[in-house]
Amino acid sequence: MPKKYHIDIKPTPLNVKLIPKFKITRGENCINCGKCTKVCIYEAHKRSEQDIRKIADPYMVACRNCFRCIQECPRGALAKGLEPDFQALGGAYWKPDMFLSIWKQAEDGKVPVSGAGYRGPFTGPGFDGMWTDMSEIVRPTRDGIHGREYISTAVELGRKLNHLEFDGSGALVSKIFNVVDVPLPIVFDIPASDLLTSNVKNAMVTAAEALGSFAIFPSAEISPDMQRHMQHIIPLMTPDSIGANTALIQSARVIALEYSGALLENFAAVRRSVRNISSALVIVRINAATGVEDTIVQLTKAGVEIIHIAADYCGMEVQGERYIKDVIRAVHLRLIDERMRDEISIIASGGIGMAEHVPKALLCGADLTAIGLPLLIALGAFVYQQPARKIVMPEGIEKIPVGIARQRIVNLMGAWHSQLLEVMGAMGIREARRLRGETGRAIFFDEIDRETFGKLFQKQESANV
Ligand code: SF4
Ligand code: SF4
Repeated sequence: MPKKYHIDIKPTPLNVKLIPKFKITRGENCINCGKCTKVCIYEAHKRSEQDIRKIADPYMVACRNCFRCIQECPRGALAKGLEPDFQALGGAYWKPDMFLSIWKQAEDGKVPVSGAGYRGPFTGPGFDGMWTDMSEIVRPTRDGIHGREYISTAVELGRKLNHLEFDGSGALVSKIFNVVDVPLPIVFDIPASDLLTSNVKNAMVTAAEALGSFAIFPSAEISPDMQRHMQHIIPLMTPDSIGANTALIQSARVIALEYSGALLENFAAVRRSVRNISSALVIVRINAATGVEDTIVQLTKAGVEIIHIAADYCGMEVQGERYIKDVIRAVHLRLIDERMRDEISIIASGGIGMAEHVPKALLCGADLTAIGLPLLIALGAFVYQQPARKIVMPEGIEKIPVGIARQRIVNLMGAWHSQLLEVMGAMGIREARRLRGETGRAIFFDEIDRETFGKLFQKQESANV
């Protein structure tokens, strides 16, 4: 049996100001009995490190809203309310609770729980309008997913063979393509930004290395310090700058090129120029937009082996009105129709902000996903959608040691990996690569809504005419 993929998680608090959902105030009548420290299983209440006779201010990022401390305080000294700044975080897509969940996962690497159960809606736009089929959840071996049972979250980047050909003497004649294994279907997608201090960039790269994954960085952002980790960096560049990036290409296993009409016309020549430098795989990164599936078919015919479809930070097409989940489905089905699905790997990014979005993107047809914003949130960034996208990095971020920032990113991925194992175990799927395009194992709200109520309302509408 292959060695299990393991992510080394460690409790890693961040010494910056976060905005918790609730505030609990401790009244003057507190007698420092310590009962709240015992009843809070999420460790929001602790004794003061300076003076253990006293209780420290509650660590509200850890609070899961179970009310137990309020109910069990013998003096009724605790009062709980909502933190108004918390509700202003994010917006319609990046809901405030997503920040809390990412902060908590980055801190302890564990699957988040809700002390008061799930009270949210059961459908919504984007990935919220999709559910996974967990019908295998009652299987007796389900509890083995973190133990003896082997579930592989590994995926491959590159062109795959859908069959092997042999000559009359039994010798293999099929050309075996170069592929790169990624142990979990997530790579990091780091935009060019002056918000990213050198410690944050180094943390992202070294976290990608620790996870055996990759971080996509614009080539101009890759400092000499970061170049020691080129085996885990995917330099992103324009086709015109290939010559200027020879050293990076020589040491990278995978590179990424920005899509342009000219690239489509000259892809064979561009691919040759990369091959003259190294055997690195080439990703073409294209914005999610109306008709992108037609362009991707043309790119595949031109010999592109990996495509990265990038939606905006809320998972919407950059030009168009579809969510990334619908774009991935359209591209996947179109490639199947053209009988070329295995000739290309699909990376999908944009709006992937929760662990559940990863298997959902795969079920829609992606081979793997790319994330950026959750990594910044793990490091304490605030994101606001209104009136326009704004990212605020925490004060003092440049002083956070690389090791702490790296561990928080590793923890976040550890929590997402555990959730992927849970989802796959409950679905009875043993390999992440088999999730790709398995829409028969997913339920789409739009489809059941149409099937259930569509005919009924159609009848009513025709009766009203
Ligand atoms: S349980 Fe109440 S009285 Fe006891 S330490 Fe906590 S807040 Fe104070
Ligand atoms: S409400 Fe529950 S989770 Fe929050 S601090 Fe009190 S005991 Fe802990």
